[in-house]
Amino acid sequence: MTTGQTVRLPSVDRILGDAACLELIAQYGRVQTLACARVLLAELRAAMLAGAVCEEGASIALIAAQMAERLQSQSRSQLRAVFNLSGTVLHTNLGRALLPDAAVQAVVEALQWPMNLEFDLDTGKRGDRDDLVEQLLRELTGAEAATIVNNNAAAVLLMLNTLAQGKEVIVSRGELVEIGGAFRIPDVMMRAGAVLREVGSTNRTHAHDYAEGINQHTALLMKVHCSNYAITGFTKSVELDELAPLAAKHAIPTAVDLGSGTLVDLAPYGLPHETTVRETIAAGADLVTFSGDKLLGGPQCGVIVGRADLIAQIKRNPLKRALRVGKLTLAALEPVLRLYRAPDLLAERLSTLRLLTRPAAAMRAQAETLLPPLQAVLGAAYVVTMEAMKSQIGSGALPVDQLPSFGLGVRSAPGARLSNPLGTLEQRLRALPRPVIGRIAQDTLLLDLRCLEAAHQAAFLAQLGELRP
Ligand SMILES: *Cc1c(COP(=O)(O)O)cnc(C)c1O
Repeated sequence: MTTGQTVRLPSVDRILGDAACLELIAQYGRVQTLACARVLLAELRAAMLAGAVCEEGASIALIAAQMAERLQSQSRSQLRAVFNLSGTVLHTNLGRALLPDAAVQAVVEALQWPMNLEFDLDTGKRGDRDDLVEQLLRELTGAEAATIVNNNAAAVLLMLNTLAQGKEVIVSRGELVEIGGAFRIPDVMMRAGAVLREVGSTNRTHAHDYAEGINQHTALLMKVHCSNYAITGFTKSVELDELAPLAAKHAIPTAVDLGSGTLVDLAPYGLPHETTVRETIAAGADLVTFSGDKLLGGPQCGVIVGRADLIAQIKRNPLKRALRVGKLTLAALEPVLRLYRAPDLLAERLSTLRLLTRPAAAMRAQAETLLPPLQAVLGAAYVVTMEAMKSQIGSGALPVDQLPSFGLGVRSAPGARLSNPLGTLEQRLRALPRPVIGRIAQDTLLLDLRCLEAAHQAAFLAQLGELRP
């Protein structure tokens, strides 16, 4: 450090003429590189005035190196790939379902080529974007017709607004769901312009409650899947096969918000049974709404399937235009739906199902491999152990069923005196080039290995050395 002694800063021209900076210009462009050089020089000048810059600190090589670091961090995308070791497979905050290769290829093609999005290749006339997947959805659900919107919240909003604006919709008090992220049935109902008519009680609702709720203002009977909670004990809800005939007798449609759009029985894959869309249609629902990126394993979207006349009415609502999906969504959705035609290959091909059906033994073997290198980089301040744990499906699907899994647990070593050891470690893991997201439970940082597929294990290991102190 030199104080009082003059340090000469190189000129902008000399910096930009340096070989290292010429490379930066080639990569980031002259405008950005010049701006970066100016900011850095101004900072150095200010630091000099404060007497905090030494001769070497002002060398062109060091300035160029700092510029390279800044330009790189400025050009890093804000939306980043992470390792999801949280134990929640369909993690809403981490983007839910991962898409299979077939969908990835289709999206890449849709990004680079014009598409027959709304163009009928047979007639050469204008087409309808829903037609691209409607046939598949009819086949997979048994419904007469289908339409796609931006997400399931949009599907519910659009359905309610179309069928029940200014009219009443009957819902059981046990099904007035709040999904995370401010989706509440009563609020959506209000925004759709419909009047919620609650019937029954929180734990018990009978068919006669619905029957007594029906009047000349009733537009719809609605059931909502209790996605993220379970009512247990002294309970009664009215099943669809009992409700649908009651609604039909009064010529009122029945709608079901199913949340997760399960298209196959999950039991044969060793998972808990979840009511499928087909079962719901067969039980008499006139309309069913569900998400594309929950158990279905596709891109974010909302699907409405059901009676052709009601779907046609929904498609005529101007709100449909505001809520419609783009070509990338449809490009991804079609191949995902197609995978369901081969249910025997689904657990291998559909990423979501593959993750959900990974046996605990596979994660256990990975934990054995990963424990020594993780312990080595963490050093004596932490103790890494193998842990049996439970993964969750997530996104409100089967909230009380948990999947046996395996992973690593990290605890603060006895006697180590860090002030917030686990919080600090979580932060260090998040600061990795590909951030690692775990969870803390009972003074242990848990890294569930269910979502670390074998193909990504090497990348996970390779960056461990960059864990900063
Ligand atoms: C998840 C869910 C929604 C919202 O779906 P998004 O696709 O996240 O908009 C609505 N209703 C139920 C029952 C759900 O489980």
